[in-house]
Amino acid sequence: MAKKISLVVPCFNEEKTIPLFYAALQAVKPQLRGAELEYWFINDGSHDTTLDVLRELQIKDPQQVHYISFSRNFGKEAALYAGLQAATGDYVAVMDADLQDPPEQLAEMLAGIEDEGYDVVGTRRVNRAGEPAIRSFFANTFYRFINKISSTPIVNGARDFRLMTRQVVDAVLSMNEYNRFSKGLLSWVGFNTKYLSYENRDRVAGQTSWSFWKLLRYSIDGIIDFSDVPLVLASFVGFASFLVSLAGIAFVIIRKIIYGGSVTGWASMVSIMLMIGGLQLLCLGILGKYIGGIYLEAKKRPIYIVKEKK
Ligand code: UDP
Ligand code: MG
Repeated sequence: MAKKISLVVPCFNEEKTIPLFYAALQAVKPQLRGAELEYWFINDGSHDTTLDVLRELQIKDPQQVHYISFSRNFGKEAALYAGLQAATGDYVAVMDADLQDPPEQLAEMLAGIEDEGYDVVGTRRVNRAGEPAIRSFFANTFYRFINKISSTPIVNGARDFRLMTRQVVDAVLSMNEYNRFSKGLLSWVGFNTKYLSYENRDRVAGQTSWSFWKLLRYSIDGIIDFSDVPLVLASFVGFASFLVSLAGIAFVIIRKIIYGGSVTGWASMVSIMLMIGGLQLLCLGILGKYIGGIYLEAKKRPIYIVKEKK
């Protein structure tokens, strides 16, 4: 029996790319074993005419095309969540609108699930060619670091582009946390995952909305969401400096007994005080990140707000 594949596509200022995306997917549809397609475009508070483009497309192809439009920009993670909730397919693919995720790979993904029995077929960058060296360096460092300190494996270079079975989608949806770090959530649910290799390619139109700082904040959120090692580290550093200070006190007392009083060494004193003060602030900051996370979760705010849906 022919299956239904839902395509979840977060869109933020993608007026130029959506028509190209739709055309490219319609073109690969015949290779998908007669599967039905269901498009779920999520307009994540775009400032351009993305919503008009979606409305037009929906009128042109009401059978397959659906969209959800948010009341403002809630971020890609929220858009993904909304799309996964709306999707009704037996299989669900998550794809970017900019055609950086090659639609031709869908056929291979489908084969991975139907013939080889995987639950998820994802894509993974084999190289970072074309990326500034400094960015690759930070990315690689981030992955090495997070995999050391988190028990949930986060695959270096894994893209969000993937095809999942209904079972996996339901598992991902069962995690209704507010702080959503998809790379972690998708890995946390487990299941058998196969990675296809992926060659970097440029977006067909428009521009990326990720700056270096946005990526840095995103990686910090990822670490906070999937590891409590920074907290342990803070206590560890605190304990170590306590031990060092004990040794220091012993040294001072013994020196006093042997040589008598002295006022030398105030410079080193100030440096040490600065260092300890800095460490305390750092640890407070780490604590603050976790408490902030708890605060946001505790409010139980909705992950997104829908303004229009078809
Ligand atoms: N996106 C989104 N909300 C945002 C930022 C991005 O829905 O706040 C969407 C965007 O439209 C695209 C996908 O997420 O479909 C990936 O974004 P982008 O291409 O800018 O990221 P990159 O591929 O450069 O990592
Ligand atoms: Mg992109």
